[in-house]
Amino acid sequence: MEEKHITGEHLTAFASGLLEKGYILISEAPDGTGFTAVKDGASVNMNTAARPTKASFKQQVFPKTEPVFHFHKTVDDVLLFDPLPHTQKTVVFGARPCDAKSISIMRKVFNWDYKDEFFNARADNTVVIGTLCKYSDETCFCTSVGLSPSSTDGSDLFLVPLDDGGYAVKVVTEKGQQFVSENPALFGEAKAGADAVAATHPGPAQKFDAAQVRTWISQNFDHPHWAELGQTCLGCAQCAFSCPVCHCFDIVDEPDSFLEGRRMKNWDACQGGMFTKHASGHNPRDDQGKRYRQRVSHKFSYYPERFGEILCTGCGRCTRGCVVGVDIGEIAAGIAGLA
Ligand code: SF4
Ligand code: SF4
Repeated sequence: MEEKHITGEHLTAFASGLLEKGYILISEAPDGTGFTAVKDGASVNMNTAARPTKASFKQQVFPKTEPVFHFHKTVDDVLLFDPLPHTQKTVVFGARPCDAKSISIMRKVFNWDYKDEFFNARADNTVVIGTLCKYSDETCFCTSVGLSPSSTDGSDLFLVPLDDGGYAVKVVTEKGQQFVSENPALFGEAKAGADAVAATHPGPAQKFDAAQVRTWISQNFDHPHWAELGQTCLGCAQCAFSCPVCHCFDIVDEPDSFLEGRRMKNWDACQGGMFTKHASGHNPRDDQGKRYRQRVSHKFSYYPERFGEILCTGCGRCTRGCVVGVDIGEIAAGIAGLA
């Protein structure tokens, strides 16, 4: 992987240049709520020693709500209108590895039996500049799901802050290479030191063996442990909405009048009681144990089986935000212990 160096001053100039070219830049909001657009190059947030934001940048590629089409009824027909295609170029600046990886994980499901043009247009127009994560707490477990604070997977460029105030720049993809090629005066020759800095941030100790979790889940669909886990969960869906890779959605028609309206795609979550309720009233997941089994099984068994990716980056957001203290890392560790 090619490596370059950029000074702190040049990083600001690089970000400012992207803004001038019409890119939207988003980075972690200093108040910790989520990712926010920055107005000038000096405002990109590279402080990964802080606690990760409550919300991930998932909305950039998978908005909370978006129209699939608009409809207008005439006397003898229904006219459909596509929304304008998404063409806004965006750079996610300073994403930690547990966020940077999200697009490549979700790309698998959004291009499986159907190619989701809404997701793909946004993902294709997004460049991810990842950076070394210097934070770790008891909820983090990136090292149990194949990542680490210095994983470049999912980033187009990956920055490691060096002692000289500048950054080692790992050029990961073609998109990243293009940025470097377009700015030859800003990216200089590589300097030593990135590996030493990364070594001082090894991340959380491994909590579980993901292969053991997957094996146990695949053999224990009816195990009473699922009912126990479901007893605590309130079904509020905070965990799914804050998760960088949860991607369930619902389709709803919203009429403005008898004649006009739109079909909307809205975030949904498997923890909610209505999620699998049929029009007949039957609900195949009629208690929270079954719903929690689905959440854990989808992440650690079904998705890896089908797509070769664990549907979890170990970011710890779901646990930090859960009002009743459901800890998915501990749950996975407990399952590994049962295997
Ligand atoms: S945030 Fe906690 S209580 Fe809410 S659905 Fe998730 S696990 Fe259940
Ligand atoms: S399941 Fe929890 S820990 Fe895993 S990626 Fe989603 S929010 Fe992060």
